[in-house]
Amino acid sequence: MRLTKNRKVILNLLEKQKRPLSAQLIYDLLPEKTMDLSTIYRGLEKLYEHNILAKSTLNQTAYYYLNKKDHFHYMLCLGCQKMIKLDCYLEHFVAELEKTDNLKIVSHDLTFYGYCSNCQ
Ligand SMILES: [Zn+2]
Ligand SMILES: [Zn+2]
Repeated sequence: MRLTKNRKVILNLLEKQKRPLSAQLIYDLLPEKTMDLSTIYRGLEKLYEHNILAKSTLNQTAYYYLNKKDHFHYMLCLGCQKMIKLDCYLEHFVAELEKTDNLKIVSHDLTFYGYCSNCQ
């Protein structure tokens, strides 16, 4: 994939913010509005297709974050929409699935939904 200037800007922003961002949030955070919303959407989807980004959906809005090797999961609070980062404890479970069902699992994508300590 060609990493265009726009896509680099998006990646830098996600790197700096260290939290999942929607296209709209990215647009709002752009210091100079060098790209429009649809360019951001397309860029995010391309980066997602190439596994550079992961995404979670909350209230029909897609939030994207960097798909790092040491990966995490997020719990989306249905009350305040905060995203809480969680470590992944699924390795053992995945290994078990591979063995029982004779699969080769290469990645997974999982989002938790619930209420944070403030919203319970
Ligand atoms: Zn909350
Ligand atoms: Zn995981």
